[in-house]
Amino acid sequence: MNFNEAAAVLAAAGIDEPRREARILERNAADAATFAKYIERRAAREPVAYILGRKEFWSLEFEVSPAVLIPRPESETLVETALKYFKEKPPRTILDLGTGSACLLIALLSEWRSATGLGLDISPQAIEIARRNAARHLQGARAVFRVNDWAQGLGERFDLIVSNPPYITARELLSLDRDVIGFEPKGALDGGEDGLDPLRRIAADLRTVMQPEGLAVIELGIDQAASASRILVNSGLEVLHIAKDLGGRDRAIVARVPHRTLA
Ligand code: GLN
Repeated sequence: MNFNEAAAVLAAAGIDEPRREARILERNAADAATFAKYIERRAAREPVAYILGRKEFWSLEFEVSPAVLIPRPESETLVETALKYFKEKPPRTILDLGTGSACLLIALLSEWRSATGLGLDISPQAIEIARRNAARHLQGARAVFRVNDWAQGLGERFDLIVSNPPYITARELLSLDRDVIGFEPKGALDGGEDGLDPLRRIAADLRTVMQPEGLAVIELGIDQAASASRILVNSGLEVLHIAKDLGGRDRAIVARVPHRTLA
């Protein structure tokens, strides 16, 4: 199959940018047979990141597999937001809940060279990938990964807590692209009826894993800012900010333990 034929196959499969994707797959295929196989997989809507086994995030390359969500550019909003809040004094410890590929934790640790992190995920397969990504990008044992159900049972406190939990609503789940719902882990997408069940679980334990001066930065889905704020406030937290992504959509919520006013 030559390049033009490949692009035509992708176009016929309804791929948005067939020539660009055919080019990427061609450049990464060792030989013609592999290229043909890649095109066949993409035409069946498998994401390019899974075909190649990697995806860039925060200018770092991450190993991915169908055991982890593919890092999205929108999630860089969380990294940017955290960097802004800790400009004066970097956090020493970072907790990433539902770490997946560990892209958030590793991006943050690559910025703050003296910080250490803990990444938790319910999926043992995700934890294996997270560990390999950390070994690749971080010197020494700066990140530890464990299988755990959100923050349940943790006996430590952290300066910064980040999370990109599943937040897709039951309704949105039905209309997701086949590229997403057909290949990415449902457990990383499905947030229950209103998409906020995982946030409720996280919020329930958040105060017990935050340092008194700590901060939480959590990714949100479409139109979730108000209901997410309510959940966090009801769990005894103070919401500081809703950060928007480059598309102007509410993307992350920033919360802390309320500071007692000295008056
Ligand atoms: N942003 C992802 C999507 O739209 C969802 C990720 C998530 O639920 N955390 O597919």
